[in-house]
Amino acid sequence: MMKIGFIGLGAMGAPMARHLATAGHEIVTTLNRSALPEGLAATVLATPAEVASAAGVVVLMLPDTPDVERVLLRAEGVVAGLRPGALVIDMSTICPIETARFAAAVRAAGGSYLDAPVSGGEVGAQNATLSIMAGGAEADFNRALPLLQLMGKNITLVGRANGTGQICKLANQIIVALNIEAVAEALVFASRAGCDPARVRAALMGGFAASRVLEVHGERMINRSFAPGFRMGLHQKDLALALDSARSLGMALPNTAAAQQLMNVCAADADHSALVQALEQMANHALG
Ligand code: NAD
Repeated sequence: MMKIGFIGLGAMGAPMARHLATAGHEIVTTLNRSALPEGLAATVLATPAEVASAAGVVVLMLPDTPDVERVLLRAEGVVAGLRPGALVIDMSTICPIETARFAAAVRAAGGSYLDAPVSGGEVGAQNATLSIMAGGAEADFNRALPLLQLMGKNITLVGRANGTGQICKLANQIIVALNIEAVAEALVFASRAGCDPARVRAALMGGFAASRVLEVHGERMINRSFAPGFRMGLHQKDLALALDSARSLGMALPNTAAAQQLMNVCAADADHSALVQALEQMANHALG
């Protein structure tokens, strides 16, 4: 059993850390909000540097790139307290390009780095069924694997360069966003033409257009159940990261850009299936 640093005990991080604790690992953390999540036994230290000096493995599950930068690189950050040979596992969804810079800073301080973002949502975090996509050296992946197996199921080393896990996660987010946009566009079209969208969805679920998004998000669109789920604001952040990466590669992601623009007129705290409301406004027609 190990002492594990875990920083970022939010909607995803809290259940993930609970699985590590249930397996017998000792959790040390630091908080930017006052309280530990319910049901998690953990030692709370004052700074990320103190967490890093207490633990040989530090897991991060933070909202966005600037949060990871702050926790790793500020004066009292993880890098400042890193033990020689320590492993940092960043499970947040952040910028692949910045990930390479963070990994270099961790390596310069004598540690190793694995990016290991996840998909599967809060339900996947609670049930330890997350898909985990990792980027880093094979030895670091193998070292992390027993811990990752406590939090997820489909665990893949995508590539040996740091950032490849993040690239894979952004590919996931492109596919999901464009699926949501396609389902929304099709349902608004059919409804505007006089069809019952619930019947259209039921008919299409039996054919080649069937998908998890048509099943789950299509139902949310029809029932107007837009409580998250996965927050629009997080998905928009992920598409912005994909567009930044594409720009640095000198390539276009035309439909990702369009989906990201539609998200601009949606509520950031709604479920991402509420993207349908942007198309409803443009069609001057609501489903129903
Ligand atoms: P969240 O906002 O619920 O949790 C983030 C946590 O980090 C919060 O508890 C916050 O207090 C903590 N935090 C922020 N800065 C900190 C600091 N300086 N020190 C200590 N703690 C700090 O977000 P979430 O939904 O858990 O998402 C986390 C990451 O996982 C994001 O990158 C997100 O894109 C990704 N993700 C989320 C989902 C989902 O369904 N929510 C699914 C897959 C991936």
